[in-house]
Formats: sequence, structure tokens, C-alpha cells
Amino acid sequence: MPDRTVTVDVVVVGCGPGGAVLAYLLARSGVDVALVERAATFEREYRGFGWNPGVVRLFDEMDVLDDVLDLAHETVTEGAFSLYGRRVALVDFDLLDTNYPYALMMEQPALLEYLVERASEYDGFAFYPATTVTDLRTDGAGVVRGAAARDREADEEVAFETRVVAGADGRYSTVRTSAGVDPGLFDSPVDLVWFKLPAGAVDAPAQGRIDRDGVLVYFGLGAGELQVGYPVRAGEWQSVREAGFDAFRDRVAAVDPSLGPAIDAHLDGFRDTTLLDVAPGVAPTWTRDGLVLLGDAAHTASPIGAQGNPLAVEDAVVAHGLITDALADGEGPLSAETLGAFEARRRPTVEEVIALQRRAARGLALWLDYGRYVPPWLVRGSATVLGRSLPRSRLVRGSVESFALGDRSVSVARSRFAD
Ligand SMILES: Cc1cc2nc3c(=O)[nH]c(=O)nc-3n(C[C@H](O)[C@H](O)[C@H](O)COP(=O)(O)OP(=O)(O)OC[C@H]3O[C@@H](n4cnc5c(N)ncnc54)[C@H](O)[C@@H]3O)c2cc1C
Repeated sequence: MPDRTVTVDVVVVGCGPGGAVLAYLLARSGVDVALVERAATFEREYRGFGWNPGVVRLFDEMDVLDDVLDLAHETVTEGAFSLYGRRVALVDFDLLDTNYPYALMMEQPALLEYLVERASEYDGFAFYPATTVTDLRTDGAGVVRGAAARDREADEEVAFETRVVAGADGRYSTVRTSAGVDPGLFDSPVDLVWFKLPAGAVDAPAQGRIDRDGVLVYFGLGAGELQVGYPVRAGEWQSVREAGFDAFRDRVAAVDPSLGPAIDAHLDGFRDTTLLDVAPGVAPTWTRDGLVLLGDAAHTASPIGAQGNPLAVEDAVVAHGLITDALADGEGPLSAETLGAFEARRRPTVEEVIALQRRAARGLALWLDYGRYVPPWLVRGSATVLGRSLPRSRLVRGSVESFALGDRSVSVARSRFAD
């Protein structure tokens, strides 16, 4: 028996970008919404930090952009990488068809806290931090009627009774597991090791570096930090660790010599690194009667192309319009059929992005295996040609636009706002 019962129209499980945006938009539309988050604080280490121009547009439509730009961030107006020391521009945001020709690099905590603050301006909103959803509550017919949770601070079992549960609880979603839905994971040929350095510890004039000894990616995060990513072959991390931290340092420094002294000065062994399992996935279904999954809970994005945040935010924006209308239309739990319109709208975009990410991961794995056998003169020659042609190539621009601008048909349903 629960210690407490909370009755609301919607319980959103998980305060990541998907859950926070959905809860804010629903609250602003006059919906009674509970946002339930397992963590006691907003700290989220090594989560997606890229917000593409498509998300910047959506932030503006949500009336949060000006405030978001006051949070610590870096603005990116072009994508470039270094190929054997030669700089190659991949994307110039000015050439894209958008009024927002820039991406933001920003860590999640301040943004999530800000969105919760904005949602808290509305009476129908309540935030439950340090509260872990443990199971779905279903009736005899299998219809989802709410969620069971444990409030760790109050040391209480809480029952949420709802018309719809929105599972936005990330790649290891409890909601998805409780609904018996498979995560639909694909194998990934690569994993990614992250570590952070103070900004300026290395000179990183491009966001990536491809060399015969490997690949590195660099992202300034604002607030004086630089995040560095080092892809390894899937399953290789254990042997890298066994070889010791000095060997790891030497491997990374072989790609970018300036990282050697920076690692010596700022990292205290493997404890300052994090391995991200990048396996992407798409769950076979995202809805049940009374339940919708969104963001990583529905489709786990790999970090390639920084698509996790944009997909989660777009999902939330689409779900907002649909849920608001469906709640106004009737009573009782929203049916799988009604919620299925969300899945029908989002699945094609998500599958296209994940297919692109998987192709890119296969290309990366090939380079990690065979890059060192490609003659440097050939790579340098290609760099010169690519540098001239890539930003204007139609093929490249198609993929870049889909990564940078997202689904341009997604727009915030501002007409549903109650204020
Ligand atoms: C450990 C980890 C590392 C990542 N690293 C990167 C990266 O380096 N680069 C990148 O591009 N992307 C990364 N991602 C993915 C990226 O952060 C997501 O795509 C993005 O945050 C969109 O997610 P979301 O809102 O759907 O879910 P998330 O951001 O994962 O948010 C889910 C939220 O649900 C909460 N939650 C989970 N279970 C429960 C529960 N039972 N009850 C209540 N709350 C719960 C979590 O605490 C979290 O706050 C990472 C994800 C994870 C989990």
C-alpha cells in the first residue's frame, strides 16, 4: 500500500531534456503535471551537451532562448576537423537554411534547473526530485493507470494516478522495462571514452582530429571546460585499462601530442575518464493504453552527431500538442491508438537519424582498424580537395542539414498555451 497517492493528468518520469521540456510545455498549457526525477540534484555528468540550430529554434518558440543564452555555453558556427594536420571545414552554419545559424554547447544541469523553475510558475506543476519510479500501475485489462515510486527523502512509497504516463527516463528506462518493451538495441562497433580538461589546456582549433593513430573530438562546454572524446573499438576498453593509464595517455598523445602534458597535469588516472556505451536502439513500440515513451527511453541515440538532445526535445514538443488535445477531448486514460499518432509522426525521423549514426559508426570503426595503412600523402591530398568541396557538396549538406536542423516540421503548439 502506498503511503501517499497523487492524482494528476500526466506524470512525466525523468527530468532529462525530454521530460523537462514536456513538463514545462504541459504546465504552461494548463495541464496538471508531476515531473518525477530519481536524482536529488540536477547534476548529470557526461550527458549530451550539443543543442543544434533546430533546438535553438524550438527554445525560441518556447520563449526560453534569451534566458538559455544567459547560461554558461559556447556558440558554434561551423564544424571543422583536422585531417592529418590539415583543417577541413565540414559545415558552415551560415550556409544552412535557418534563422538560427549556430549550435550551443552547454551542459545539462543549469538548463534542466531553469526549465523546472519556469514550469514551477504554473499552478498545475509539481516536481518530485529524489523520487524513483519503480513500476507502472496497471488495471486488470493491462491499461496503464499511473506509476509507483519511492520518495527517498520522505522515505515513502508514492502512487501516481494519471491519465497518461510519459516515460522520459532515459536509455535504461524503468518505465519501458515495466511495460515489457524491448529497448531494440543495435550492436555498435565503437565505444567512446570521455574526459574533461580546463579550457585552453590544449589548442583545439577544430572539433575533431583524424590521424593515422586514431581519432579525437573536442567540445568546449563554456564555464572553462573542454570535453575530449576518444573512440575505441567496442569491447576494447577493458584491455586499454589493463595496459595502464600511461599507455592510454601515450595512445591519446599519439593522435594529438599536446594532450600528453595536459593529461599529465589534469587527469588523475582512469577515474577521470568515462566510457560511454554508444549502442543506439529503437524500441519496437512506444505506446500502450495510458503510456507513451519518448527520448532515449523510446530510442537510444548514440553520441555521433550529438542527436540525443535534439531528438528528445523534438519528441517532447510533438507529444505536448498531442497530449494537450487528447486530454481536453475526453476522460480516462489516453488510448494507445491516440498516443500512436505521436509514434507515427516521430518514428520515421528517428529511424533516419539512427541509421545515419550507425553508418558513421561503421566508417569510424573502419578508420580505427585500417586508417594507419592509408598513405599520408593520399590523406593530405584528399584534405585539400575535401576542404574546398565538403561544405558545398549536396550529399554532405543533406546529412549535415538533417543533423543540424532536425525535423523542421516540428513546431511548438503555442496556441495551446494557457497564458
Ligand atoms: C550515462 C549517460 C551518458 C551519456 N553521455 C552522452 C554523451 O557523452 N554524449 C551524448 O551526446 N549523449 C550522451 N548521453 C545521451 C544524452 O544525454 C541523451 O540522449 C539526452 O540526455 C536526451 O535524453 P532524455 O531526456 O530522453 O533522457 P536522459 O537525459 O537520459 O534523462 C533521463 C532522466 O530520467 C531519470 N530517471 C531514470 N530512471 C528513473 C526512474 N526510475 N525514476 C525517475 N527518474 C528516472 C534520470 O536520472 C535522468 O535525469 C548519455 C546518456 C547517459 C544515460
